[in-house]
Amino acid sequence: MPMTNLNSILKRLLKQPTAPFHEYHVRAEIEALLKDCPHVKLKHDKFGNLLATYKNGKSKSKPTWVFGAHMDHPAFIKPPGSTKRDAWDFLGGVPQAEVDAGVKRGLRKAKGQIATWNFPTNITNTRIEATACDDIIGCAAIVMTFLELARLNIQTTVHAAFTRAEEVGWLGAWHLAQNWPFGTDSVFLSLETSRPVNGAVMGGGPILRVGDRVSIFDNEAMAVLITTAKEQGIRVQRCLLDAGACEATATQASGIRSVGISIPLGNYHNLNDARQIAPEFVMMDDLKSMIQLLKALVATKHDGIGERTIRERVELRMQEHAEHLKAGSKLFK
Ligand SMILES: [Zn+2]
Repeated sequence: MPMTNLNSILKRLLKQPTAPFHEYHVRAEIEALLKDCPHVKLKHDKFGNLLATYKNGKSKSKPTWVFGAHMDHPAFIKPPGSTKRDAWDFLGGVPQAEVDAGVKRGLRKAKGQIATWNFPTNITNTRIEATACDDIIGCAAIVMTFLELARLNIQTTVHAAFTRAEEVGWLGAWHLAQNWPFGTDSVFLSLETSRPVNGAVMGGGPILRVGDRVSIFDNEAMAVLITTAKEQGIRVQRCLLDAGACEATATQASGIRSVGISIPLGNYHNLNDARQIAPEFVMMDDLKSMIQLLKALVATKHDGIGERTIRERVELRMQEHAEHLKAGSKLFK
């Protein structure tokens, strides 16, 4: 499947209405996209997260990656049990005043039990604009990566989790981590879209996320991300993205080694610079680079790929400088 099909994947996923706890449209569309993909097996866990495994032959990358993306986005849902026609609850991190102003402007559109901000999806060669880039772009990146691995007949094993109810406190990721089905040698890689802060910029490449507002992530896993990007000549940014928190915080707190990559996101949670409700957007090159990086991560083994471990580096320096150490130490009284 050529890269141009990325557009059709994006269109199909971005037009699905979604909200915390109401991710059924997105989940069904991901299943439709992956159901005939060679080497891919799908299943649901008890929480309703969609789990996917690509397994082609016996080889594995080290570590074995578990790509994670959430299927929900801040939106309105019908209050459970309510029969009132115009009763809606808003779930997700957007201040009430801005939500109310958006409703007043007539931007809310209902479909069944869900109501979302009503913006068209706009995809060009440079930019993707939609109501819910966060985190449908992450879901699309995983789907595209799996289809590409199959097309190229890459021999490897990689897992994915498409989770529910992230926007209300990582509930799906928490369930996943508490009932971890992927083995102890695997590392959770949260794939997000995030507001670029601390030097990160739109269009600067995917952001290797050393941490979020709550946690600092796994050092060795981060080193594999950096080394792989360098080897492949993929332009990336490396930053602490502490304007929000991601699912890697939930999985890591459950004892799963975790790290993250984020695509820089414009109009995070549908707020523009004037704090008005607006469509979110990401840059196409940032997304394409992330897919390149994901493919490279699972298609290469990382045993002894040039970089020395921190221990090896320090021990070498210790040898190199042995004479200096001796000479200087003599002068301490
Ligand atoms: Zn998100």
